[in-house]
Amino acid sequence: MQFRDLKSQYQKLKNPIDKAIAEVLEDGNYISGKKVKILEEELASYVGAKHCITCANGTDALTLAMRALNISDGDGVFVPDFTFFATAETVALEGAVPVFVDIDPDTYNISPSSLEENICRVIKEGKVTPKAIVAVDLYGLPADYEKIKEIAEKHNLFIIEDGAQGFGGMINNRRACSFGDISTTSFFPAKPLGCYGDGGAVFTDNDDYAEIIRSLCVHGKGEDKYHNVRIGYNSRLDTLQAAVLCEKLKAFSKYEVSDVNKAADIYNKNLTDDVIKPLIPDGFYSSYAQYTIRLENEEERASLQNYLKENKIPSMVYYPVPMHKQTAFSEKCDYFEKTLINSEKACETVLSLPIGPYISESDQIFICKKINEFMKEKKHS
Ligand SMILES: *Cc1c(COP(=O)(O)O)cnc(C)c1O
Repeated sequence: MQFRDLKSQYQKLKNPIDKAIAEVLEDGNYISGKKVKILEEELASYVGAKHCITCANGTDALTLAMRALNISDGDGVFVPDFTFFATAETVALEGAVPVFVDIDPDTYNISPSSLEENICRVIKEGKVTPKAIVAVDLYGLPADYEKIKEIAEKHNLFIIEDGAQGFGGMINNRRACSFGDISTTSFFPAKPLGCYGDGGAVFTDNDDYAEIIRSLCVHGKGEDKYHNVRIGYNSRLDTLQAAVLCEKLKAFSKYEVSDVNKAADIYNKNLTDDVIKPLIPDGFYSSYAQYTIRLENEEERASLQNYLKENKIPSMVYYPVPMHKQTAFSEKCDYFEKTLINSEKACETVLSLPIGPYISESDQIFICKKINEFMKEKKHS
């Protein structure tokens, strides 16, 4: 059993993907070929954003967003404490200070009340200037953008949506990667929409940001690539990856997102309430980058994970260490609170199970049976 079955997807889409790859090889435009432009138009239209700029990976996408918003030295950027390292790393790379915010214990996304508290605290302390919020769509579930927007407007802050895991998710039929002033995603193979290597994209409705980001991706180009108006990067999506993504996006929008939701329903129905299952608030739709359950405590999680391993069932802990406890940030620890209860608790108790649009129902039933067995035994011992 695989944690995320990428091979079955390739088997199913082999013909169109092989054909698309062969076309790129024949065409010979391996960088910035025509498939890149086609993909950007299709992604923008899928998401409902005016502009899509593809780039080398999801981390670069965040950096490009920070640069376009002029985030730099002396700025404070509010980031959820429970996320993948890149969310906060890219803030620090610009010389800004990541201020870690606690999460909502039920959705694992940034907590609006903790966000507001932290903004007020940072303003009061006066050490850094609050500039932006990076909200993460963790495990595929969009963050609470209605509340986040209210807070951002009140304090005049930008919103960056880190949609690396959220692509395909929705709030009331509005798609993820359209909620930020600038939104980003990743096409790392295991993300909801993955390519066969690294890839990423930035989305925005703002023409000025889009122009800056297009320039930054190609060494800060001006009128052409040999007239440079700013210091930029080499951050482009290969034509081969774009061709693969064009084919995968068709399957993604046609059935993969709904199939992964069906797989989540199978877990929801077959797992007993001895484990805490994902909560999807009313009006929200997850793309289930992960299906994550929560256990009582760290020991229980370790023994369940061990039991699953004995039964050849892979499982993962996303994430074992909260941002505020990462060694890399220990120097900046003046800026955030020493304990962030919900985030710390999540790190100790979450466990992600195998999921994806191609997982078999029989594998899922087997996984549920093993988990239920284990939990029942625990309760009686
Ligand atoms: C994967 C991920 C990223 C980084 O994407 P890469 O393409 O691996 O650089 C950023 N943020 C979150 C939340 C992620 O899950």
